[in-house]
Amino acid sequence: MKLPIYMDHHATTPVDPRVLRAMLPYFKAEFGNAASVHHAFGWNAEKAVARARAKIAQLINAETPEEIIFTSGATESDNLAIRGIAEMFREKGNHIITSAIEHRAVLDTCRYLETQGFKVTYLPVDREGLIRLDDLKKAISSKTILISVMYANNEIGVLQPVKEIGTIAQARGIFFHCDAVQAVGKIPVDVRAMKMHLVSISAHKMYGPKGIGALYVRKRDPRTRIAPLIHGGGHERGLRSGTLNVPAIVGFGKAAEISIKEMKKESARLLKLRERLRAGIQRELDEVYVNGSLDQRLPGNLNLSFAFVEGESLLKGITETIAVSSGSACTSATSEPSYVLKALNLGEALEHTSVRFGLGRFNTAREVEYTIKRVVSVVKQLRALSDLYALDRQEKAKSAKR
Ligand SMILES: *Cc1c(COP(=O)(O)O)cnc(C)c1O
Repeated sequence: MKLPIYMDHHATTPVDPRVLRAMLPYFKAEFGNAASVHHAFGWNAEKAVARARAKIAQLINAETPEEIIFTSGATESDNLAIRGIAEMFREKGNHIITSAIEHRAVLDTCRYLETQGFKVTYLPVDREGLIRLDDLKKAISSKTILISVMYANNEIGVLQPVKEIGTIAQARGIFFHCDAVQAVGKIPVDVRAMKMHLVSISAHKMYGPKGIGALYVRKRDPRTRIAPLIHGGGHERGLRSGTLNVPAIVGFGKAAEISIKEMKKESARLLKLRERLRAGIQRELDEVYVNGSLDQRLPGNLNLSFAFVEGESLLKGITETIAVSSGSACTSATSEPSYVLKALNLGEALEHTSVRFGLGRFNTAREVEYTIKRVVSVVKQLRALSDLYALDRQEKAKSAKR
C-alpha cells in the first residue's frame, strides 16, 4: 500500500488511465480545430467531440447531444445557468430560489445577482442536510424565475429530493437548475425523469481532466433559453463561444463512457467501503457523529465530527498519511467552520471537528482498514490529553451506575 492515501474525491479525482489514453492522440496527430470545416484535421476533431457529447448526453439521459454545452468547468456552468436565466427572463420576474448549502459557484452568483436587483431566497436545511419541500413551495411567488438546488452536496454528500423539486418547478412553470457535479457519474442522474432544465457537470469530479465541464440545456418541454456569458464565434449553439478544448472533451467523453458501464458495480463497492469505514471508526470510538443523512447520501461520502478533540490537531494527525479535508477545499484555508456545517446546526464544538472522507474508484479495502486504524489512534491520543473528555467519561460512568 502506498502512502499517502488519497481520500478527497469530492475536491477532485485522478484522471482514469483509460481517459488519459483516449486523450493523448488529440494532443498530437489529431490536433485539429473542431470548427474547421474544410479539412480532415477539423472533421476528425469534430467527430471526436460529437462522440464525447453523445456519451455525456447518454449518461444523464438527455434527449439529444445538442443539449450538452461544453464549458471550462462547473463554476462556469453554474454561472451560465443562473446568470443566463436571470438575464433572459428579468422582465418576467426577479426572484430566484436556492439553498443555503450550495457550492460557492451558485451562492456567489446569486449574491452577485442581488446587487443587480434580483431577490434570492436561500432555503435552510434540516439536521439531516435536506431542504423541506414545504419551504420551497412557500417561497415560490409570481416573480420566481429559477430554482437552483444541487443534487449531491460536496461536503456532506447529502442528496436533495431533486425529482420532487423538478415536479414542483414544472407545475409552477419555473426553470430548475441543478448543480449535479458530485452526482453525475457516481449515481444515476436522469434529466428527464427528474424534470431538470439546466444541469452543471464537471469532468474532474468524475475521473476526467480538469478545466472542462458542461451545462445541460433542455431543448424541449420546455425549451430553455439562456443568455450567454461569453460572446464570440458562436460555438456551442451561441451559448459558449471559444475554440473547443478537444483533448479535454475527449477525456470527458471517455470518463462518461466508463461511468455508464461501471457505475452500478462501483457505487455498490464504494457504499460497502464507506460503511466499513464508518462502522470501523464508530466501533472503536464513542462520540463520533455522522454529519448529514446517512440514508440520502452519496455512496463514497462520509463526513464525521469527533467530539472532544481539537479540529486542527485532528486534521493534522490524519493528513500526515491520508488526504482528507475538513469543510470544503475552497474555505478550509480559514479556520471558520464551513457554511454547510453551520447550516446543519450541529453546535460550535462539532462544527470545528469535522472530517470529510471522500472515497473513490481507486481506494481499496486495505486503505480503508489503514484509515480506520489511523483515525482511531489519532483521536484516542488527542482525547487522552482532554480534560473535558475525562470529565465527560466520569459523568457518563456516574449516570450509568445510577
Ligand atoms: C467542484 C464543484 C463545482 C465547481 O466545479 P469546477 O469544475 O471545479 O469549477 C461546483 N459545484 C460542486 C457541487 C462541486 O463539487
